[in-house]
Amino acid sequence: MTLAADVAVIGAGPAGCVLAIRLVQLGWRVLLVERSASPRPQSGQSLTPGVRLQLAQLGLSHVLTLCGARPAPLSRIRWQGLEAEDRVMAQHPPLLVDRGRFDAMLRGAAVGAGVRLLCPARLIHRDQDADGWTLTLDDGAERRRARVSVLVDATGRAGLLARDRSADGPATLALFADWRGTDTPVHPCVDHGPDHWVWGLPRGDGLFSTLLFVDADAVPKRAELCAFLRDRLAASTLLGDFRQATTTGPVRGVDSTAYRANRPIGPGWIAVGDAAMALDPLSSSGVQKAIRTALSAAIVLNTRLRRPDQAALAERFYTEDLRDGADQHRRWTEGFFASAAHRFSATPTQGNFWLRRAVGTLVDSADTTPGMPDPDQPLTLAPAAQWRTTACLVDNFVEERMALHHPALARPIAWLAGVELAPLMSSFPPVTSLRALIENWSTRIGPSRATTVATWLTRCGVLETAP
Ligand SMILES: Cc1cc2nc3c(=O)[nH]c(=O)nc-3n(C[C@H](O)[C@H](O)[C@H](O)COP(=O)(O)OP(=O)(O)OC[C@H]3O[C@@H](n4cnc5c(N)ncnc54)[C@H](O)[C@@H]3O)c2cc1C
Repeated sequence: MTLAADVAVIGAGPAGCVLAIRLVQLGWRVLLVERSASPRPQSGQSLTPGVRLQLAQLGLSHVLTLCGARPAPLSRIRWQGLEAEDRVMAQHPPLLVDRGRFDAMLRGAAVGAGVRLLCPARLIHRDQDADGWTLTLDDGAERRRARVSVLVDATGRAGLLARDRSADGPATLALFADWRGTDTPVHPCVDHGPDHWVWGLPRGDGLFSTLLFVDADAVPKRAELCAFLRDRLAASTLLGDFRQATTTGPVRGVDSTAYRANRPIGPGWIAVGDAAMALDPLSSSGVQKAIRTALSAAIVLNTRLRRPDQAALAERFYTEDLRDGADQHRRWTEGFFASAAHRFSATPTQGNFWLRRAVGTLVDSADTTPGMPDPDQPLTLAPAAQWRTTACLVDNFVEERMALHHPALARPIAWLAGVELAPLMSSFPPVTSLRALIENWSTRIGPSRATTVATWLTRCGVLETAP
């Protein structure tokens, strides 16, 4: 029997599961194909607070409870100097999760939402014609055919359809191990050395996970990996004493080079999550970004399928949105590496790990954010600010709207604090003051949102002091 669906999603990581769930919510029949029944080996991960919000918006908050996510309000970080600092994020703490369990709960939520999950199953063959795809799937017991309109690559770093990629940073390898018998911290830690940075996470079961990030070409032979890792952990004053500690298994290495797909969308297909772009793990926001691409992709596919005449617009939106997101993250990462690079740049070879990653920002990493002006000082719209017709997400479709473009904005913006900006700013006077602006806008959008919008536009330089 041929399985019939509108969309087949290959890969049931966070991106694949969320996309599948969102598409079902939008009324589409979805087949989700995952090759691996067992959890991923790299178990401990930290999720940025945004993941909690994303899941709440999808009605999936229970996933975090079910997988035993633990808030980590305090982290110990040694980055720019020799002193460690305690970073407290009490209000919106990151969450420590076992990624295997997190992914398993997401898959369960997908099935609960009405997604048809084939797991374990592999895509053996695919044929594309004018109306869609004919797939051959193998679930171990039998081979089945499936007929779908759209194929989604959600296979993570493995990649299926969008394998032509450009590196977004130097080739990086993560060496990871779980340790027992250590005198290790109870909080997550970040530390760094001349040729690496390292991240330690208490797993909550007595074990401690470490992830060491190094240049891929600096890694020794397999037999020497454990000693290589142990030496660098021992050099950290934050991570505790690893002399008596033993690993629960062999030290494993995974590629963690940042990259972007050169073409993340094409006729009848789209790539999401790490299949479309992988971030440098420094921000530990890979899952949040993967889910974000999945949420955008769901709207892009909904537009393509329901409004085929808008397919090109939807495609352009997705391509530009991914490009802007990758550019923004790259700038942030380079700045973060630059802030530590000066410690190791004294000798030509020692600082290579840092200098390679701080390209472009080492010379000028000063904070140039404009301060807030006096509320009665004259303000004007910056000459660099421009209004352009731009593809935007509007409810469940990609549509064109007037959006504000400015060099200080990572992306053009059409809405701010839930307010559509173009109508609000259509009668912007040549010169005003922050106080007058907030008073004027308060009558239209209320004082709280008027203050937020006016302050934000001023802070990022879209409104500037009049000459
Ligand atoms: C060392 C390291 C540490 C990281 N730490 C963090 C962290 O702490 N926090 C964070 O937010 N992010 C972290 N990330 C990034 C994060 O893991 C990824 O961004 C995220 O998992 C991407 O989700 P995804 O769904 O796109 O891909 P994946 O999670 O990789 O899922 C892809 C799925 O597709 C399946 N698959 C692959 N090929 C096929 C195929 N041919 N057929 C069927 N199924 C297939 C795989 O089995 C897998 O289940 C880290 C990354 C690295 C490398």
